[in-house]
Amino acid sequence: MVNRKLLMTSLRINFSLKVLPWLSGKKGRRYQVGALAILVSIFLMGGYYFVHKGSGLSLADGQETNQENANGLIDTWAISVKGTPILYLASQAEAAEVLVETKKNYLPNVKDAQKGAQINVERTEFLEDVQIVQSQSSVGQLKTKEEAIEAMLKGLDKTVPYTVKKGESLWTVARNNDMTVAELEEINPSLKGKYLQIGQTLNLKKIEPLVTVVSTLTMTVEEKIPCKVVYENDSSLWKGQQKVKKAGTNGIREVTYRISKANNQETEKQTLQEKVLREPEAKVVCTGKKAMVASRDGGGSGTLGWPIRGKITSPYGVKRGRSIHTGLDIDGVTGNPVFAAGAGTVTRAAWYGNYGKCVEINHGKGMVTRYAHLSALNVTVGQKISRGDLLGKVGSTGRSTGSHLHFEVIKNGKFVSPRRYLN
Ligand SMILES: [Zn+2]
Repeated sequence: MVNRKLLMTSLRINFSLKVLPWLSGKKGRRYQVGALAILVSIFLMGGYYFVHKGSGLSLADGQETNQENANGLIDTWAISVKGTPILYLASQAEAAEVLVETKKNYLPNVKDAQKGAQINVERTEFLEDVQIVQSQSSVGQLKTKEEAIEAMLKGLDKTVPYTVKKGESLWTVARNNDMTVAELEEINPSLKGKYLQIGQTLNLKKIEPLVTVVSTLTMTVEEKIPCKVVYENDSSLWKGQQKVKKAGTNGIREVTYRISKANNQETEKQTLQEKVLREPEAKVVCTGKKAMVASRDGGGSGTLGWPIRGKITSPYGVKRGRSIHTGLDIDGVTGNPVFAAGAGTVTRAAWYGNYGKCVEINHGKGMVTRYAHLSALNVTVGQKISRGDLLGKVGSTGRSTGSHLHFEVIKNGKFVSPRRYLN
């Protein structure tokens, strides 16, 4: 039909070129050249249309006959699933593109894929019987290509009820259900400008693709091989102390997977090949076991261990202005570990007035030890600890003139000389 139309047009132009008497002389020749150019363009466009659209004839046919018949129906092309036409398009070419785009949607594209991933799509097909058939529909049923693709992926407008939960807003409900607020308001007209109530029922768009795209692809990716951590004993470290001896590096491997998918769902993942590109190197961490049991003179009962090693800079019981020193000051450098003098439960691990950062341990049988002026706390209230466990770090917090540990022993609620219990 296109050809006949073109032929008619060209005849008409030729005719006018010959008969119109004013088309003579110089001026007339210019008109003739112009008309010829138009004629050539029309032929070229027609040819282009014919060659590039392939099914251009049916497209043109469809457009020309896209007029309602007596029943109010027009000729269309339908995508039929399992023998039932479900989407109507103006042309066969558009319907074909909808199917291509639907399949493409479920395949990883180069941008989405990890850097350096190689993807090879082996197979992609519809699980259901999907056909493009000549059909008829009302004008209202006709979909654009974009509308049809959306319908293929999300389904036709089916709704499901949804009950509003505590703390939800229109926006969170929309986001959690892959909808926009506008879409939500559109299918729930009563909502506009109102707050959601807990227990209120809304309609949500049901996302149910019209077809299942089954695909198989192979994907080659580089993956990290995490390095192992190896622990070594170091006799120079105190219990609880750690030191990284060697940082360690992660390895790299190249893995080829064969992945089967049904729409976005991975149904199978098989490792086809694995090649180590770089071996990981283990991280080496030294740990200490040394407990604070340094022996001292003083003939204590030996039930408590020394919390730090160092010179005693101020003994228990000495007069300090109007008060009496309630503990033992042991010299130490800020950051040195402070260890539990005995097993027990942490009853304080926080700032405590003049004591600064302070830890207290209840050892049972009326015995409590207190560690003050710490720069860091390594335990929390309620924690069960053993003798020699790390409690914190030496510091000078609270009322203190320099970094040291102020160590108190409290027996049945009264301060006692720590030296009586230290071995
Ligand atoms: Zn003190």
